[in-house]
Amino acid sequence: MSELKELTKKYSKVMIPCEVCDSEEFEVLQRYGRIEGPGEYGELKVSVCKKCGYRLLNPRYEDSFYEDYYRRLYRDVAYGSSVPSSEYIRLQQERGGAVLGWLNHHFDIKPGVMLDHGCASGFTMLSWINSGWVAKGFDPHLGSVERGREIGLDIELGVGERLPYEDDSIDVCMSLGSLEHTYDIGRSLSELHRVLRESGLLFIRWRSDKIYGSPLEYYNHNHNRFFSHRSIALLLARYGFEVIQSVDDEIECEGSSFSYTLASKAKIPDFEIFSNEIFEDIGTDDPREELEKISALRDDFYTKSKRFLEFYNRHSTKDISYIRRLLEAGESGLSWDWISGFVDFEKVYQRKKMEAERYISLYDQGMVV
Ligand SMILES: [Zn+2]
Repeated sequence: MSELKELTKKYSKVMIPCEVCDSEEFEVLQRYGRIEGPGEYGELKVSVCKKCGYRLLNPRYEDSFYEDYYRRLYRDVAYGSSVPSSEYIRLQQERGGAVLGWLNHHFDIKPGVMLDHGCASGFTMLSWINSGWVAKGFDPHLGSVERGREIGLDIELGVGERLPYEDDSIDVCMSLGSLEHTYDIGRSLSELHRVLRESGLLFIRWRSDKIYGSPLEYYNHNHNRFFSHRSIALLLARYGFEVIQSVDDEIECEGSSFSYTLASKAKIPDFEIFSNEIFEDIGTDDPREELEKISALRDDFYTKSKRFLEFYNRHSTKDISYIRRLLEAGESGLSWDWISGFVDFEKVYQRKKMEAERYISLYDQGMVV
């Protein structure tokens, strides 16, 4: 039995109220998703809030499960190994630099203290340090933290729910994909609000809600919530942040399917003001629309999977630029988005084949619902 399966047996799943509006009324958006490594699917309930349209994993494991999981297993399950390659290190450094470049380009910011929220080994901090910033980071995964410390980075082992930093001590927090993993988003955002200075900025990368690939991969056990531009704005407003910009720009690298939200620290509203005025102001996602969208997407991915397998069987070449040209020309009605944005093309090409095969098989058995 895998370590993850053993871990899940120790904990039970609980229903939680909506993280945005506290409502306890949900509809099931999807019943199956990825429960372990790529291609390993099983029951995974994603719910949509009937009041505000927020999508989250619900029920989910009780909080203590996540600390256990992230400390020991997360990066191993998600990436196969916790030892980073030199290519990965270079990319991470570039990504950190690209975020800083984007912030410098759009806003007048001066070097200060940057917190890398869920930093892994902290390679994203290097470009900031080279530009005169003091960079601090934390991560719940012990192996990653040790690795970063070996190269002299200021990294703590910790979780977003309890930050080991003083009040008003951080100028910019860079959170690259970690707020979807955090188990208690309310406590995590409250902690960020506490440690950021008055004029502090919060830069968040999250997975776009435009789902390009398999819905069974998009909805996976590593993500506790699935943002939209509107739902992240609502959530931020609830915990005292105001959105400055929320974009789908390719800030870190070409062809990625990320969205980004930049927010500044504002006043924490009381819940009544939040749920009346702010709710009205920002608007909510429509749960009906979310259910229709996912249903159409499941069918669409089925068709695309079949087309992709035909394409794969015709073009087993490992020549990435050739495959890219074909896909960009719209061959088989597929697009380059299907496999772009990854480092190891050959591995991704194989993986997409495996995902397509499993998807078709599960769909035919009625297990993509
Ligand atoms: Zn809600």
